Amino acid sequence: MTEKQPFDPTKATETVWAGEKPYRVHGASQVPVVHSVAFTYEDLDHWYDVATGKAEGHIYGRNTNPTVESFEEKMRILEGAEAATSFSTGMAAISNSLHTFLRPGQRVVSTKDTYGGTNKIFSEFLPQLNIDVQLCETGNHEDMEAEVKKGCDILYLETPTNPTVKITDLNRMVKAASDVGALVFVDNTFATPLNQNPLDFGADLVIHSATKFLGGHADALGGVVCGSKELVEKIYHYREINGATMDPMSAYFLLRGMKTLDLRNERQCASAKELVEFLVDHPAVDQVFYPSLEDHPNHEIAKKQMRRYGGMFSFSLKSGIEGVKAFMPQLEFANRAANLGAVETTVGPARTTSHVENTPEERAALGIPESLVRYSVGIENVEDLKRDLEQALAYIDSSN
Ligand SMILES: *Cc1c(COP(=O)(O)O)cnc(C)c1O
Repeated sequence: MTEKQPFDPTKATETVWAGEKPYRVHGASQVPVVHSVAFTYEDLDHWYDVATGKAEGHIYGRNTNPTVESFEEKMRILEGAEAATSFSTGMAAISNSLHTFLRPGQRVVSTKDTYGGTNKIFSEFLPQLNIDVQLCETGNHEDMEAEVKKGCDILYLETPTNPTVKITDLNRMVKAASDVGALVFVDNTFATPLNQNPLDFGADLVIHSATKFLGGHADALGGVVCGSKELVEKIYHYREINGATMDPMSAYFLLRGMKTLDLRNERQCASAKELVEFLVDHPAVDQVFYPSLEDHPNHEIAKKQMRRYGGMFSFSLKSGIEGVKAFMPQLEFANRAANLGAVETTVGPARTTSHVENTPEERAALGIPESLVRYSVGIENVEDLKRDLEQALAYIDSSN
């Protein structure tokens, strides 16, 4: 008998297969949706062992569910983590992770242009708990290092950022944080586990809004956190009591969506690069934000820590918000919506999507022009998308 050799598959294969086999009961080739609020036990001793964590199994749907667990396993493997736990939304993943560890009097260092909801946690909710939050200019590593050095319990990073696609050097910031014993959280939503794995650079926790690229079909909300068993168990405990649990149907949609994550990502990243090159040369366009561009301020860092640059870019128009109002309704193949990362191209002004919670003054302070268009590339044919942009941009000239 030949002995079976250990076999380490690529991430593309993992998106299809990882985390599923133990959950495919009854010989199913897919992970079934287990719609059951509670799990029954005939043997009281067995029930007790499961309830006290001495035996494997499920007790109550707010805590664990087999379909949800399969999704967590797939993500755990894709991020190369020891453990993973999931949430009803990406914001639940972010807020639960922060609240698990932060205590009054502690200090968080982060950047100014994190996701709008995250920014609200930092500017509104954490200060109410007497937690000091210092927000630095994204990409200004010297400033971030100086603030971390002054004292820091959690260094919270998002790279690339939403919507201006700025990049933070993970290696460098992890080093600064470890010098002061701070935990490093990284929101990896824009990159997906295929383009970047923050744990490989020494981050403690990687967080995703599963609502975006992971699901990919804009039909399910979810969030997930991956990291060491020790940290993830603490977050799980906070979540099981606070109740921001992922629904089994959402877990199923996310599992199904993730089977095509690599295919979608390959197409979306290639199209983004091509569309960005087209827009850079367009006379109506002011600035284009995408890390593949040589003149992107952190192009070299992105090249070093990302496998591909992602399916998200943004651009501003010379004609301002009036130009956006003339151009955007003319797009044929784009949903004008607040989400991103879907199979359909999705566009929106930053002021009505990622940063709708902020005032115009706050957006200006974050370096987000009012005419900024966030463009999430779908899986459509790239030539069609280019022609669509071209015909829609032509409306600016005639209307201004
Ligand atoms: C959408 C998003 C979130 C929040 O996720 P929800 O699932 O909408 O709660 C967090 N971070 C980033 C980068 C996002 O794009």
